[in-house]
Amino acid sequence: MARYTGPVCRLCRREGEKLFLKGDRCYTEKCAVERRSYPPGQHGQGRHKVSEYGLHLREKQKVRRIYGVLERQFERYYDRASRQDGITGENLLRILELRLDNIVYRMGFAASRNQARQLVLHEHIAVNGRKVDIPSYEVQVGDVITVRGNSRDLQVIRENIEAAEGRAVPEWLEVNLDQMEGKILAVPTREQMDISVQEHLIVEYYSR
Ligand code: SF4
Repeated sequence: MARYTGPVCRLCRREGEKLFLKGDRCYTEKCAVERRSYPPGQHGQGRHKVSEYGLHLREKQKVRRIYGVLERQFERYYDRASRQDGITGENLLRILELRLDNIVYRMGFAASRNQARQLVLHEHIAVNGRKVDIPSYEVQVGDVITVRGNSRDLQVIRENIEAAEGRAVPEWLEVNLDQMEGKILAVPTREQMDISVQEHLIVEYYSR
């Protein structure tokens, strides 16, 4: 299935909230959700009665879009989460958080998850000193993530790091921006996953 390549702000407007898909722009008044807080399309401003199924579907779509994961892969993640011990919804979020592209974004090397995905695909990132070019690569506790040799001079990475100075990093990660390096300290708890999602709605979506 093809990856969505249309305007990403449209996705936020569809979900009715900021999904922070565009980096710095998301924090400015240029944000499309700030300017047009209704769904895109001809009937976007009409009245909409949302069914229970619609609520579940929207929450699933929202999380899928935040992490930039395709439908089939998201289903596989859910399947895995449901077979793990613990709460399925939390397991699902944890699997998503541990994707390498998310980690690169969380550490501040990229301005958005989408950009982090590009950095990984273009071989700018290493895990434990070895090049990894798979955005969905699942990191483990103790893994060290670094920006690779020549990539350290890339303007885009330097700008991201400058913007990330002083920004809070999740407590389950350790980051040294000067060294362009970070470490996975632990798997995150639900409280440590800074994402406004009602994951039980996703579980209900797949349990119907
Ligand atoms: Fe979403 Fe960011 Fe676009 Fe705002 S600027 S609509 S938060 S992607």
